[in-house]
Amino acid sequence: MIALTLLLIISVLFIASKNKNEKSPGTSSSSTSQQTNKNTVAFDKSKYSIDDPDSIWIIVNKKRPISTTFIPSNLVTPDVKRDSSDSDAEQQVRKEVGSSIESMFADAKKEGLDLMLASGYRSAALQKTYYDGYVARDGQAAADRYSARPGTSEHQTGLAFDVARGDRKCYLEICFADTPEGKWLAANAYKYGLVLRYQNGKEDITGYQYEPWHFRYVGTALAEQINKSGQTLEEFFGL
Ligand SMILES: [Zn+2]
Repeated sequence: MIALTLLLIISVLFIASKNKNEKSPGTSSSSTSQQTNKNTVAFDKSKYSIDDPDSIWIIVNKKRPISTTFIPSNLVTPDVKRDSSDSDAEQQVRKEVGSSIESMFADAKKEGLDLMLASGYRSAALQKTYYDGYVARDGQAAADRYSARPGTSEHQTGLAFDVARGDRKCYLEICFADTPEGKWLAANAYKYGLVLRYQNGKEDITGYQYEPWHFRYVGTALAEQINKSGQTLEEFFGL
């Protein structure tokens, strides 16, 4: 009788401990999936169109051209230091981008950095002039690595722009990344709704070589996500 009672107690204890062991991983995995769901719900990837050139999330690349007749409707000239070698038209960006540039440049100035706005909006016709010139100079294959054919440039959306130093050191060159200005931009641009569009080592995905000076406005919500993920726009949207 004693032996039977003992056996019963042992069995109960064994079952209890087994349940406990089974329960804990179950609980933790369900909380992980809740967490994942929460994050997915928190960020809606379909909030804006990635196909409409008027959308702040438009994705333009070599495989996703926009109409060469598209002109953004709300272009402004930001009140910041601008590159006088660019035409007045090319110093414009979309209104929301202009505000972002103004606050970013002001904050950079407080850090002792000297930023200058280079190219902003480019019409398809202007892009054609640039592209044709690069092809004549470097050949088509080389030109395609750093310049866009008309209709495939982000600059045509009014949402993209190039930044340089006021003294033009490393002007539109890779070494801009190593300047204090380039480093500050890489670390902080996302706070102003901007992404470094052509990242180092992502040429196969974006279609363009590393451009530490080229920034693209997407709004702060998406810029934060992109910054956290380290992905390109193409990767983030699964293109
Ligand atoms: Zn650019």
